[in-house]
Amino acid sequence: MYDHEKEISEIASRLQKDNISFKDKNILMTGGAGFLGSWMCETLLSQGANVICIDNLSSGQWTNISHLINNPHFRFIRHDISTPIYFGKVVPNAICYPNITDRIDFVMHLASRASPFEFKNHAISIMKSNTLGTMNALGIALEHNSVLFYSSTSECYGNPPPSQVPTSEDYWGHVNPIGPRSCYDESKRAGEAFLKAYELQHNVNVHFARIFNTYGPRIRAGKEFGRVVPNFINQCLNDEPITVFGDGNQTRCFTYVVDEVEGLLRDAFIPEARGLPINVGQVKVDSVLYLAETIKRITNSNSKIIFKPLPIDDPILRQPDLTRAKKILNWEPRTDLDTGLKKTIQWFKETQV
Ligand code: UDP
Repeated sequence: MYDHEKEISEIASRLQKDNISFKDKNILMTGGAGFLGSWMCETLLSQGANVICIDNLSSGQWTNISHLINNPHFRFIRHDISTPIYFGKVVPNAICYPNITDRIDFVMHLASRASPFEFKNHAISIMKSNTLGTMNALGIALEHNSVLFYSSTSECYGNPPPSQVPTSEDYWGHVNPIGPRSCYDESKRAGEAFLKAYELQHNVNVHFARIFNTYGPRIRAGKEFGRVVPNFINQCLNDEPITVFGDGNQTRCFTYVVDEVEGLLRDAFIPEARGLPINVGQVKVDSVLYLAETIKRITNSNSKIIFKPLPIDDPILRQPDLTRAKKILNWEPRTDLDTGLKKTIQWFKETQV
């Protein structure tokens, strides 16, 4: 059996060891019903925080948070953060929650679709979440004097040349501004620029992590939006062909969700992380073909590997330089691919099949 409670307490206890506690803090979490957002909400609640989750449930799932709804420390607001929202006051013609007058300690902005499969049909809403949404989140942080945490991405680096891999935060990126991935890559980059603008002009306390490929229980699965890990798991469990794009030699660093959430919460909390992008991801590199073979082995599947064209601008090499994360966050991932995949596959078997 997959034990979710145990995973959440594992993250909380790792944080507690370094005295990182969100106890009694009030957190506004955008995208709180999403894959990473819901793990973040649960970890924060387990540490004794109060969480207001904002999500428009376009890609976030109600089932990720429905079990939290009776928790007195959790509130859910169905709202798209690319439209302004105000707390503790009335603003004419705007969406307002004047009765929510609590101090807001942290605004954590995670809302955005992230799967390349969704870029075509949701390009504009992705752009809005990461630009207007980030601006609105920053506006709340400015008004309430909160820390603003932004989930940025390794996509800021685009398709870096081999000389820039492992990629450090100082690398500015090699991104196609008008390609099929640009709605995500460029809007995430613009989101970072928004953070810097609010820091420069208003001294907002901004924190931002560049997230690398993350997988684990609750990752969305479905042919129309699946990312590589859920796709391969579904294909293997159903004995369907495993669709490897290109020759499968492109690499990714697959980070298990427990490690990722721990890293992100460290980044949000630790004062020395202020104003700096920080890579938060696995360093061990695996090819997509190796991933396919590993999932096939663990699931004991009869699926055949088939090769399909590599999507345009699909990054060939991706690996973080973790020097900064180790130094500032005292963090590095602990879960190897086999262990993380086994838990994820178990969760898929129990919930998705
Ligand atoms: N990929 C694949 N088969 C799939 C889905 C994805 O081979 O069914 C490849 C994709 O081309 C990319 C890698 O797996 O090289 C990771 O894709 P994903 O969509 O998970 O995220 P990305 O890292 O590209 O943002």
